[in-house]
Parts: sequence; C-alpha cells; structure tokens
Amino acid sequence: MSDRKLLNIELGRMSAEEYKKAPKSGLAVVLDNVRSAHNVGSAFRSCDAFKVDRLYLCGICATPPSAEIHKSAIGAEFSVDWVHHQDTMDAVKELKSQGYTIISVEQTINAVSLDAFSPSPDKKYAVIFGNEVSGVSQEVVDASDFALEIPQYGTKHSLNVSVSVGIVLWALHRKI
Ligand code: SAH
Repeated sequence: MSDRKLLNIELGRMSAEEYKKAPKSGLAVVLDNVRSAHNVGSAFRSCDAFKVDRLYLCGICATPPSAEIHKSAIGAEFSVDWVHHQDTMDAVKELKSQGYTIISVEQTINAVSLDAFSPSPDKKYAVIFGNEVSGVSQEVVDASDFALEIPQYGTKHSLNVSVSVGIVLWALHRKI
C-alpha cells in the first residue's frame, strides 16, 4: 500500500468561530451525572464531530474550564455550545419545551435497538447518557419518550459512556 496520513491542515476543518455559526444537526446530548471529566471531554469531541446543537452537562458532570476535560476534548469544549443544569430533569423539561423528542440511551425492558431505529429528518432528538455506575436515573428514563439500546455481543454488560456517545451520534447522524 502506498499511502500517507493527512496533515491536520489538509483535513480542511472550519474554525471554532465558523463552527458556531454553521447549521447544526438537530441533535442535543445530555450527560446525566457522568463522573469522569475525561468522559465529558470525549463527549465534547464527538459532539463537535457530529455538529450537536448543545451539550447539557447535568449534576456532578465536570464543566469547562477543566484540564481533564481539555485533555480528551482537545479544544472541542470551545466549539460546542454547552450548559450546566444541577438537575437533569430541568434539562429534560427545557428540551421538551423546545420540541425535542427525548431518548434515554439505556438498556431498558422496552428499549428500541439502535439498529432498528429510523430518526425522522424533520424531528429534533435529545439523547441522554448516564452515570458510569448507575446509568440514566429512573426518573429521567420515565420522563423520556423511549429508550435506545446499542446491541452488544460480548461478555460485558455495557459500553463506556463516551464510546456510547460516539456510536449513537454517528448512527443517528448518518440516518438523518
Ligand atoms: N451499570 C450501568 C452501566 C452504565 S454505562 C447501568 O446500570 O446502566 C454508562 C452509560 O453508557 C449508560 O447509562 C448508557 O447511557 C450508556 N451505555 C452503555 N452501554 C450501553 C448500551 N449497550 N446501550 C445503550 N446505552 C449504553
């Protein structure tokens, strides 16, 4: 194989200022009490890649400025619009009032498989991800329109939360 890796400059990415003005995807991301700042930073980076409308950091989630967030976000914390809510339910209420369909990304009895889900291009979706140990709180699951599950085929019960963010955003973005 004759090939070479592209230089960052050759990737032709827009600046954070251009990004802020660019149209977004109609997807919002909510982190419900995610404890690791590295996972928050990684979520910022995926939200930037898929042009998320806004990242809602709730409860114990670390917020910028943070050296730990910066380590995994590597600057995406400056492009992605974000807000902090102490109570995740307040974020859910705000998103509902803005017309978002609320999706808990969680393993639940009635969860829809990500494989089977077809988002409507004319709808806005808020996807909620949970704490590394306790998951999305039951109150938030109850307030959601439905739950979405990422199929898994190995031995572990769940994926890392930031990996889940990347998978779900990629899958929804390509289907919209
Ligand atoms: N034991 C925890 C696991 C949390 S994993 C629990 O009881 O839920 C952290 C978060 O990653 C979850 O709350 C969920 O948002 C996401 N996640 C991980 N694996 C997932 C899967 N297979 N399907 C959907 N969401 C998943």
